[in-house]
Amino acid sequence: MKCSFCDEQALYVRPYDKLALCHEHFNGKMQKRVQKTITRYNMLKRGDRIAVGVSGGKDSIALLDILHKIEKDFPESEIVAITIDEGIEHYREEGMHYAKLHVSRLGIEHHVFSFEKDFGHDLDSIINKLGARGKDRELGACSYCGILRRNILNKAAKEVGADVVLTGHNLEDEAETILLNIIRGDIQRLGRLNPTPRKIHESLVPRAKPFRATPQAEIVMYCLINELEYQEIQCPYAIEAYRGDVREFIFKTQEKQPMLCYNIVRGQDKLLASIKEIKPKQELRNCKECGNATTGDLCKTCWLKQQLDN
Ligand code: SF4
Ligand code: ZN
Repeated sequence: MKCSFCDEQALYVRPYDKLALCHEHFNGKMQKRVQKTITRYNMLKRGDRIAVGVSGGKDSIALLDILHKIEKDFPESEIVAITIDEGIEHYREEGMHYAKLHVSRLGIEHHVFSFEKDFGHDLDSIINKLGARGKDRELGACSYCGILRRNILNKAAKEVGADVVLTGHNLEDEAETILLNIIRGDIQRLGRLNPTPRKIHESLVPRAKPFRATPQAEIVMYCLINELEYQEIQCPYAIEAYRGDVREFIFKTQEKQPMLCYNIVRGQDKLLASIKEIKPKQELRNCKECGNATTGDLCKTCWLKQQLDN
């Protein structure tokens, strides 16, 4: 089959609009969509120091590669890569290898932070101590991991002087988060899921997701045709992720309805645009231990520290 835009052989046919794309036009469309997403949601400003979270998986590697191409037109901005080592044996080492490989190939400044060094415990030892389902049986490995990764990524962003943090969350990830908040009836979180990075607390560096309109399949394809190697094995704790059921629903339904995730994400955008403001139940204040943003007395990181010290 020929490319819809030239005489070259098509490598990919987009299921939602049936456009057939050759290598060059596929790359062009990917880059354009990221640029459009950044502009549409005011994700970046000229001269920003941009921290990109790079785990070594397909999303972060593809994002870094595309941002590096875009950045050539904005030499006053600067990209810096941040990798966080959670301390997951037989897993993190490989991701770290790919993160380093691509960061050095692109000549980008790289900073590595770790749970062990920046929190005092790695994830494996936290799970050993608290159990995979946690003391209160409500939190699993991914919840601990998420709490610490958010905290350390924010700390890292401040340390490297970043104005904004970009992460590789893709269209399906975003749709999944929106659906989860609806299922849980968590309107506050749904309201906070704003694609435009905002300074919601003095201690937090604003974050954005330039891949929020890019389907996972296209990210995989981008890595494949551009020969970008990435970590493919799954985290050993992923199996217990609570998001699993919603994810399964999305991928099953998407086969019959290729616009599913676009519709969910666009629906969220329209919802945010049509409501003035969802008043937070509690205002953000400073954690009494570390000063970071929290709705209670202690932030989740300090709470986790207490659990481990008990
Ligand atoms: Fe962390 Fe869970 Fe992701 Fe593993 S699957 S890296 S535990 S969030
Ligand atoms: Zn705290």
